[in-house]
Amino acid sequence: MIQFHSVTLSYPITGTLALDDVSLQIGKGEFAYLVGHSGAGKSSFMNLVLKRALPTRGEVMVAGMSLKHYRGRRTALLRRRMGTVFQDNLLLSHLNAYDNVAFALRVTGVHQREWPSRVTAALRTVGLEHKKYALPVQLSQGEQQRVAIARAIVSDPPLLLADEPTGNLDPENSREVLKVLQNVNLRGTTVIVATHARDLVESYRHRTLTLRKGKLVRDDPYGGYAL
Ligand code: ADP
Ligand code: ADP
Repeated sequence: MIQFHSVTLSYPITGTLALDDVSLQIGKGEFAYLVGHSGAGKSSFMNLVLKRALPTRGEVMVAGMSLKHYRGRRTALLRRRMGTVFQDNLLLSHLNAYDNVAFALRVTGVHQREWPSRVTAALRTVGLEHKKYALPVQLSQGEQQRVAIARAIVSDPPLLLADEPTGNLDPENSREVLKVLQNVNLRGTTVIVATHARDLVESYRHRTLTLRKGKLVRDDPYGGYAL
């Protein structure tokens, strides 16, 4: 699903080496954590996959194609094929859970008559079918994050990128979000989670890639947090 061939990203002007000669492969259907201290390059990795940043050297491939070949409209289409979840979920406060999820379908080619079943299925996957009429303010932080995950998966992306998805959550809500991400993965979606949450990485074991100062220093197939 994702291949990095000797990827280096050095930001212009500051010259910060955010990623330093990183090579890796993440297969279709995998669940992988990306761990590392703040500044290690986790967000830069995500930005490269989303083509929000371009490698200074090396090549990034997604679904078998180099991102070099994506331009303009195709880049927009590529991004729509990836679900994203961030620390701040930014739900629309005036829309209920259902409409927040449905909103994400407007930019896809999914026909409107399919929306209700799609949205309901996505809310079911995150365990919130019963809260579809709730406004964000009526939901806990963890529930809001689960709505954000439903929004990210409603268009059935082959890939879900989650950057610190539990960053604002207490331990219990964090575990709930992790379980939801695992469910999404079980349905066939490749899931990549960038996180600082050592306890989660230890409790819910998956392949773990460790970045240190832009270098990929570990790749543990069965997980574990070793910073
Ligand atoms: P996190 O540790 O949660 O991944 P960061 O604070 O490292 O977040 O970065 C958040 C965002 O801010 C990054 O995606 C990046 O685009 C931007 N950013 C981080 N560091 C710098 C910087 N030195 N100059 C400009 N933008 C930055
Ligand atoms: P992480 O997500 O692991 O915290 P980042 O990928 O955000 O790490 O950052 C890696 C390094 O690149 C850091 O030193 C950060 O300050 C720097 N950086 C991130 N984004 C930018 C940017 N847009 N411009 C300049 N430097 C950046």
